[in-house]
Amino acid sequence: MTRFVRGTCSLIAALLLGVLPSAERGAAEDLVIRGVRLLDGTSAPPRERVDLLIRDGRIAAIREADESAIGSADARIVDGTGLSALPGLIDSHVHFVAAAGTAYRQDSDDTIRELNRQHLRGLLACGTTTVLDAGAYPEVARDIQSWLAAGHPGPRYLTVGPYVRPVGGYGHPRFGEEATPADVAAKLDLIVSLGGAGVKIALEDGFGPLGGPRPFPPEILDALREGARARGLPLYVHARTESTQSRALDLGAHAIMHAALDIVAPEELSDVFVARLAASGTFQLTTLSVVDTVPGLYDVRRLDDPIVRLVVPKLELDTARAADAPERFAIGVIGFAAPWTFEWTRPWLASVFLSRDRLLAALRSGQRNLVRESRAGVPIVAATDVPSPWPDAIYHFHGPQLARELELLVEGGFTPREAIAAATATPAKMLGLDAEIGTIAIGKRADLVLVEGDPHRDIGALRRVRWTVRDGIAHTPAEWMSAP
Ligand SMILES: [Zn+2]
Repeated sequence: MTRFVRGTCSLIAALLLGVLPSAERGAAEDLVIRGVRLLDGTSAPPRERVDLLIRDGRIAAIREADESAIGSADARIVDGTGLSALPGLIDSHVHFVAAAGTAYRQDSDDTIRELNRQHLRGLLACGTTTVLDAGAYPEVARDIQSWLAAGHPGPRYLTVGPYVRPVGGYGHPRFGEEATPADVAAKLDLIVSLGGAGVKIALEDGFGPLGGPRPFPPEILDALREGARARGLPLYVHARTESTQSRALDLGAHAIMHAALDIVAPEELSDVFVARLAASGTFQLTTLSVVDTVPGLYDVRRLDDPIVRLVVPKLELDTARAADAPERFAIGVIGFAAPWTFEWTRPWLASVFLSRDRLLAALRSGQRNLVRESRAGVPIVAATDVPSPWPDAIYHFHGPQLARELELLVEGGFTPREAIAAATATPAKMLGLDAEIGTIAIGKRADLVLVEGDPHRDIGALRRVRWTVRDGIAHTPAEWMSAP
């Protein structure tokens, strides 16, 4: 189907000349997705053979394909035969301060910035149209914001900026440290200046016998709670045990950024806690990927997945294939969790604490906890925490990992529909964007992903992205990867 410019004079000119003035093509033309299966992100049943009209970046009409044609005569047509249309996916926990393999390669800030350009394209190529950056240095957040504002490709970008972090607390020192209530106020103002979607803190007791970071002094927590409330910043809390998650609820957390996940001592949540979490309305993020991509559990054959090969920067794939990368990972991760250990002991400690059996047990326990929470009515939000644990992660890639996260939810007992809702409608609510994105409905932003097959029958269909539509602009994965 040929594309035509809109506007009668231009159209006549184009017909007469048989050529199209390319500068006049673009977002203004109608886009029609024809004959697609519609999974609109709500609990409504799927609709077969639907036509979608997208105009000015929004969903303008949804009709049965057999009804009269929709859209202007010069609309651009995408053939949806054999494809399913879903709301654009949302990854609610990512980071851009490091990339997979950063510690191994000792990436400079400039290298990470260049890799991020590819990550932003790769996310779109994998159908992710919105991300929440759950911890960023201000300069990294500003760089991405200005890249996107200049019209370069990437998902809708939300960030919580740098953590509020007590002296010696969990998290990278480059996030800064808040020693006084005045320091907390200054950090919150900085987050507001970044357009922050909320404020992130970590309640982390440490890693069993390996030790832990300094906790929050009470006056810092009070300043945080009051300051965040005064500025309208919801609290996004890193917490991954029942004890720390309970404290997150005490604080009035808007979202808990990890499932109950512990590799050293996997934990089944108590019924009392699950009921309290459900009653609170707090969003629970999944991040099973953090365990799934640890060397020893990660199956390196996954590096050959076509979508991985298309979107992951070569630098990261080369590191992932390097023979000594898993050992460097072990040295880095044990060094972070237990800095008092000698470096030469760390590969051995990793073989004990990060064994395949322990990793699998942690993953299964996390899946069980999430299923129980979901059945109890807790709003579950899919999230990868790519690349985690940074900067040491070597197999945790922006883009393809979200499909894997949803596969892990289905493997754990979620229905495909529930898993998809966890990456579309539910995070849109968490982010306060449910009037705009998260479901496919007339008037909403046209953020869509078209995949081959039916993800309600086979969640693996999410790996077979054929088109991603971001704000009404449709490209194939390969086109997004080369978009300027
Ligand atoms: Zn994180």
